Amino acid sequence: MPGQIMISRKQDPSMSELGTSRVFIPETVSEGPNSKLIRIIGLPVVQPDQFGNFISEINNDAFDAVHTFAAVWRVDNMLRRAFRAADENVPSGWQWGDSPLKVHPHFSHRSGAWYRRRSKRIEFNYFSYKTEVIYTCRSYDIVAHETAHAVLDAMKPDWYPGSSSLKQTLAIHESFADLTAVFALLDQPTVCTDIIASSQGDLHAKTFLSLFAEQYGATKRHLNGYMRNADNDLRLEDVDRSMRYELSKVLTGAIYDIFVDVFEIHISDPYCNFAATLNRVGELVLHRLVDAIIKAPESNATFKDIAEIMISNEQDEYYRQIMIRHFGYRGILLDSTGDIDYIPDTELGLDEFCSCPNSNITE
Ligand SMILES: [Zn+2]
Repeated sequence: MPGQIMISRKQDPSMSELGTSRVFIPETVSEGPNSKLIRIIGLPVVQPDQFGNFISEINNDAFDAVHTFAAVWRVDNMLRRAFRAADENVPSGWQWGDSPLKVHPHFSHRSGAWYRRRSKRIEFNYFSYKTEVIYTCRSYDIVAHETAHAVLDAMKPDWYPGSSSLKQTLAIHESFADLTAVFALLDQPTVCTDIIASSQGDLHAKTFLSLFAEQYGATKRHLNGYMRNADNDLRLEDVDRSMRYELSKVLTGAIYDIFVDVFEIHISDPYCNFAATLNRVGELVLHRLVDAIIKAPESNATFKDIAEIMISNEQDEYYRQIMIRHFGYRGILLDSTGDIDYIPDTELGLDEFCSCPNSNITE
C-alpha cells in the first residue's frame, strides 16, 4: 500500500503542550507536498525523505507546508468518510471537479483565512502581533474550518452565496465549518485522551475542545482568548440575525449540546473507556449531521430543515429526545422566519468564505 507519514499539529499553537502528531496518509503524496486533490502552493517545494515521508522541524516554512497539507488531508478524509456513509454517490472531488484544491499556507500579510471557489483555493494569511508573527495555517481549528467550507461546497454547491439567498443557509455553512473544527479534534484518538484529561469528562468545562482559534482570538479579542465558543446557550431570539457568524452560533451550540448529552449517556457505563467513547460519539454525531445535510434542500436550507431531518431520521429514542430538547430550546423547531432573512444584494456577489470575519465581534 502506498503511504506516507507526515507531521502535523494536533491543535492550536497556543496549546503547544499538545504538540504534534504523525499522520499516516494511505495515498501517494509527492514533493510539494501534493496529492491528487490537495496541492500546497506559494512556499518552497518540500521533498520527501529517503523513506518517502515528510517530517520537518517545527515552525519553519517546510513545517507549515507539511502540517497544512496533513491537516487539510485529515479533515477532508474525515468529512468524506461521513458524507460517503450518508450517500455513497457523493462527489469525490471539489465543487469544480477533480483538479486539486490549491492551499496557500502563507498567502498574504493580513488577518484571516479564506476559501475561494472561483480561485479553487484556500488562503491562510499571517500578521504581526506585538513581537510575533501569527500564521493562521498553524491553527488546526482554522484549517479545519476552511477545509469544511471546501468540502461542503462540493456536496451542496447551491448553498453558496448567489445560489442561496438566505442568511440561514450561509450560517449553516459557518456552523458546519466551526463544528468541523470540534469533530476534527474528536477524530484524533490521542487528542481525545487530552480532552478527557483536561475536562475530567465534563465537556461543558471550558477547554480547547469547544473554543475556536485560540491563538488568533487572543490577538483580536484579548478578554476572551478565542474567536467563538461552540459551547454556548444562544437562542435564535438572542442573536443579530443579520450577521451570519452570530446566527451560526445558535446551530453550533445546539449540535454541541446534543453531542455532550449523547456522550453523557454513554459514560454512565461504569466501565466506560472515556477517550474511546469520545472518539466514537464524535463520529456518531458528525454522521447524523452530515446525513441531514445530504437530505436537506439543495438551496436555501434552514436550521429548521436540518433539525427536522435529524429528528425524523433518528432511530434511537434517547437521542431523538435529546435533539428535540436542544433544537426546541434554541427556537429552531418553531422558527418560521428563516425564509425572510434574505442576504442583501451587496453581499450576494462575495464568492468566498472566511473563518474570522471581524476582529471586533463580541460574544
Ligand atoms: Zn467560515
